[in-house]
Amino acid sequence: MSNVGHFLSNKSWSGGSERIGDVYNPATGAIIAKVILASKADVDAVVDVAAEALPRWAATPAAKRASVMFEFRDLLKSHTDELAELLSAEHGKTIPDAKGEIARGIEVVEFACGIPQLLKGEYSESVAADVDSHAVRQPVGVVAGITPFNFPAMVPLWMYPVAISCGNTFVLKPSEKDPTVVLRIAELLAEAGLPEGVFNVVNGDKEAVDALLDNPKVEAVSFVGSTPIGQYIYSRGTSNGKRVQALCGAKNHLVVMPDADMDQVTDALIGSAYGSAGERCMAVSVAVPVGEGTADHLVEALEPRVRALKVAPYTDPASELGPVISKQSFDKIHRLIGQGLEQGAKLVVDGRDISLQGYEEGYFIGGCLFDNVSTDMSIYKEEIFGPVLSVVRAGGYEEAIRMINDHEYGNGTSIFTRDGDAARDFWARVRIGMVGVNVPIPVPVAYHSFGGWKRSLFGDHHIHGMEGVRFYTRLKTMTSRWPSGIRTGAEFNFTGGKDV
Ligand code: NAD
Repeated sequence: MSNVGHFLSNKSWSGGSERIGDVYNPATGAIIAKVILASKADVDAVVDVAAEALPRWAATPAAKRASVMFEFRDLLKSHTDELAELLSAEHGKTIPDAKGEIARGIEVVEFACGIPQLLKGEYSESVAADVDSHAVRQPVGVVAGITPFNFPAMVPLWMYPVAISCGNTFVLKPSEKDPTVVLRIAELLAEAGLPEGVFNVVNGDKEAVDALLDNPKVEAVSFVGSTPIGQYIYSRGTSNGKRVQALCGAKNHLVVMPDADMDQVTDALIGSAYGSAGERCMAVSVAVPVGEGTADHLVEALEPRVRALKVAPYTDPASELGPVISKQSFDKIHRLIGQGLEQGAKLVVDGRDISLQGYEEGYFIGGCLFDNVSTDMSIYKEEIFGPVLSVVRAGGYEEAIRMINDHEYGNGTSIFTRDGDAARDFWARVRIGMVGVNVPIPVPVAYHSFGGWKRSLFGDHHIHGMEGVRFYTRLKTMTSRWPSGIRTGAEFNFTGGKDV
């Protein structure tokens, strides 16, 4: 059985910790690898290497940094099949889904290839006599990334291509549940020509995360994961003086207006609620049909489609959704479904008793569909992160929008309608970070930025796109005078020489 370690100075590294975690194949429940859980001393050693590599990398011309990204992009493309296989074996998602996440990650690398253009500063000539002003963006320093299990390739790729292109060095702490794919990607980045120490990976759990949050050499932290952990990381990181962005949990609503195309809506909900077994922060977990007629029609259209979902391990090419990640997730989803029933929701499709021959110990849950869910139920309030869709019937459009705005999460939402007025009103008033109109998962492309509102994001910056460039750089503004012989005398009136 393989031991998954760390990646330091462009080589694998085991560190000194003796703590080890288990990595499972979620389709069988079998342990397939052991992951080394870094100690504080290990993390500090990795941060030291990243800090040492920083001055040289920060001084490397942006075009040269971009040239590494161009090579990296090509290597990711040519290794996609291999990476998808590594990813699916530990995560359980289907191969097309794994390839999809790698492709979305590659788009961020492509964005980072444009870093010389993105870092161009501002210049103002003659802001006063003989005085010019210019502003540049400089790297923040050593950046840490802490990432979740559900997109083990893509979410880290949201971070480090932009961060290192901006001239920072990076320490990534991936999820200990599926740690392998990122190590292979780190090798590709080294092969692309990245100097030693610029990108490092440290595997671990809370001890490693706390060590990153407390290390004074770490200047900024990007986190993606659940809300309670994100809030903790935000408060501990910022109280240690770091810049922190923490992208967190979600409960995404899809509003179905009476005029919507029901075939389009059903397709959209099946893909977005059940794809990747619902383990996406942009999964739609709540459908909000407006009006009883719309609701009846929707549930009738969804029921057979949910029943027909093909649940199977990723090794079966016909699989539409695989297992959930762990026994803990499996138990949590079962507990919440039980609570939904106790609290009075109607379980139209019950996927709990699925059993796949040869995979009896796997964490499979079939598609579940709840109707008559109300906003006080735990299946509505909590993030389930499994293949469970709740239908909450809204009496009218205003009720739908109020419901979304009152929810504690604010990651994504969408509306399906043919009415331009309704669509415009919706995106203007809804208190959510990413909004779709007739698009079920409104994930922004790499050159826009990804992020939620409310308790789906702690911090000021969204991730990748220009927000990513801003997060990973600090603004510096210079004012300079090259005297041409005119003396200004001492100035006491704060006019910046304008009176001269
Ligand atoms: P998680 O919060 O359990 O773990 C995320 C990271 O935090 C992991 O690296 C983990 O090792 C670390 N961690 C876990 N417990 C910790 C602790 N007590 N102290 C310090 N660090 C700790 O999240 P997960 O289960 O891996 O991922 C699923 C969650 O991520 C969902 O809530 C999902 O909505 C969210 N997510 C959000 C986005 C987004 O962009 N908003 C994207 C993907 C996933």
